[in-house]
Amino acid sequence: MSAKTTNLIKEIKNPRVRMAPSPTGYFHIGSARTALFNYLVAKKYNGKFILRIEDTDKERSKPEYEADILDSLKWLGLLWDEGVEVGGSYGPYRQSERLDVYEKYLRELVEKGLAYYCFCSPEELEAKKEEMMSRGEVPRYDGHCRNLTEEEVKKKMNDKNPFVIRLKMPEKIITVFDLIRGKVDFDTKLIGDFIIAKDFRSPLYNFSVVIDDHEMQITHVIRGEEHLSNTPKQIALYEALNWTPPIFAHLPLILNPDRSKMSKRFGDVALKDFRKKGYLPEAIVNFLVYLGWHPKEKAGEPINEILTLNEIIEQFDFFRIQKGGAVFNIEKLNWINTEHIKTMPIDELTSHAMPYLKEKFGDALLNDIEFVKKIVELHRTRIKTLAELPEMTSYFFVLPDYDAELLRWQDMSEEEVKNNLDFIYNLLSDLDNQLFTRQQLEAIILPEAEKRGRGKILWPLRVALSGQKNSAGPFEIMEIIGKNETLKRLATAIKKLKENQNNA
Ligand code: GLU
Repeated sequence: MSAKTTNLIKEIKNPRVRMAPSPTGYFHIGSARTALFNYLVAKKYNGKFILRIEDTDKERSKPEYEADILDSLKWLGLLWDEGVEVGGSYGPYRQSERLDVYEKYLRELVEKGLAYYCFCSPEELEAKKEEMMSRGEVPRYDGHCRNLTEEEVKKKMNDKNPFVIRLKMPEKIITVFDLIRGKVDFDTKLIGDFIIAKDFRSPLYNFSVVIDDHEMQITHVIRGEEHLSNTPKQIALYEALNWTPPIFAHLPLILNPDRSKMSKRFGDVALKDFRKKGYLPEAIVNFLVYLGWHPKEKAGEPINEILTLNEIIEQFDFFRIQKGGAVFNIEKLNWINTEHIKTMPIDELTSHAMPYLKEKFGDALLNDIEFVKKIVELHRTRIKTLAELPEMTSYFFVLPDYDAELLRWQDMSEEEVKNNLDFIYNLLSDLDNQLFTRQQLEAIILPEAEKRGRGKILWPLRVALSGQKNSAGPFEIMEIIGKNETLKRLATAIKKLKENQNNA
């Protein structure tokens, strides 16, 4: 493909894109962004999104990390069309199950003389590396085993000398035509003959990724900028195998607020930690898309930064992805999260809130879903994350124990508090349960509160209902917990006051 044609590509049609994570750690927030952009390209341009697990590193790959990847993608709503779990025509989609495929191509490259066995020991390699660095050169393999004769190789093999397999890198300039970054040249002299496999059953990343992207007919490789330096190696492999490379696109780096490369030092990087903290998946997706992209402004229309995944797909245009690094601003995520919490349909918001509530209250208290929904609705404008919800709403589920003293407003006497609560108790016991709405309750209680003093009625009432100093307002609480529970809580308060008086 010439530079000219690539630079002219302004269209993507029926792409086959993939996310190819290595299960060597918990799913990273940066990987979530890569997954999102691949997903968007598939959805926007009528293509397929493929999930391949790159688990050739046997020591570092763990099933729990793979489970975390799948779970995270599902939680974000980035469902794949082909890949592990769902299957497809190009499987298996887990690299550890594809060793025969890699072996076939490794043998082909060695037989054709395009790759070779290298018997250099780690110590020898280290010494050569240091020597090169002391001369101020970029360290790379010096090609020592490139021209071993067949006999020499045979002898070393018979002697059971350990080996690796290296690609014979042709000396030339390899140009990457990157859909985001444009043309990037690499001098292969600075790369050298790199290792493609430790043995025929142990391929390394740069090799297996090329085999799979080709075999799975991937059209666009979209990944983080940290992989740009791998791309010339991969192109060299496509050339050795006589295959056309896919189109490459490297997403901008994600930066810390000080513009250094994103790291743990500045906070969480594992997606599961954001989930634990109570961010909505919709908010994370919305936040991530701005790490490298933003929608086109429409003349005369205010920009609405708060977007659902479907709205993002609608507005997405791959060619608006920026080159420059994108700063990870946690304040912005917090803001986006509160906005999604405010606007998400209540059924959805409640189901997102459920795991956090369940963790604190267990299943039994959450049986009445309508009750839970009302609580969530009342608090959605008061929380920044869903993780704040259990603490803030616990008194709806279980009335906490509290001191009778808390019921007293300013310099009221206990007697007066008790009388006021008695008065409200009687007022409400005659009220039909159907009329236990906020408006009705206000209409009945507020005029009395004006007469007796607002604080003197409303403070004891609110504390009797919530058992705490700070809570939602009394009318809102009564509407949600209903008549029976309201009267029960008032009776508890009155009893507390009586006991206090008796003990005095
Ligand atoms: N397994 C690689 C990673 O997790 C995939 C990189 C790529 O997309 O080529 O970084």
